[in-house]
Amino acid sequence: MALRNIVKDGDEILSKKCRPVEKFDQKIWTLLDDMAETMHRANGVGLAAPQVGMLRRVVVIDIGEGVIELVNPQIIAYSGEQEGLEGCLSFPGEWGIAKRPNYVKVRAQDRHGEEFEIEGRELLARAFCHEIDHLNGVVFKDRVERMLTPKEIEELNAT
Ligand code: ZN
Repeated sequence: MALRNIVKDGDEILSKKCRPVEKFDQKIWTLLDDMAETMHRANGVGLAAPQVGMLRRVVVIDIGEGVIELVNPQIIAYSGEQEGLEGCLSFPGEWGIAKRPNYVKVRAQDRHGEEFEIEGRELLARAFCHEIDHLNGVVFKDRVERMLTPKEIEELNAT
């Protein structure tokens, strides 16, 4: 496994739409492994392939319950609403308040191409939405009600 560089705000790759994965081969497995390692090292709860410069529909998520790998994920159902703090490894030090569904159901493929469904609530639902947005060139700043001010971030860091 290897760490990959995380693409930062201003890179146009973050606004591009990703292509589906068709071949479930070593290249995708290495990408998934590297993305998980990169996410963990950066203390993130999710990472999408465009954030490591790859325009493929691949996501890893870990909200502290183990790594979830999503290839070609789609949101097939959602309900409710939650409002909360959201940030992104591609926008270090920036935070916003974003509304997301409180429940999300995703259909995806695993690293071998096997289809499965997974449900998430609260933080996991938020992570599904945030990461799948990345695959469509949408970043959290496109979704926020407002960004936190530097003073609010200072207070946040103090707690
Ligand atoms: Zn992000």
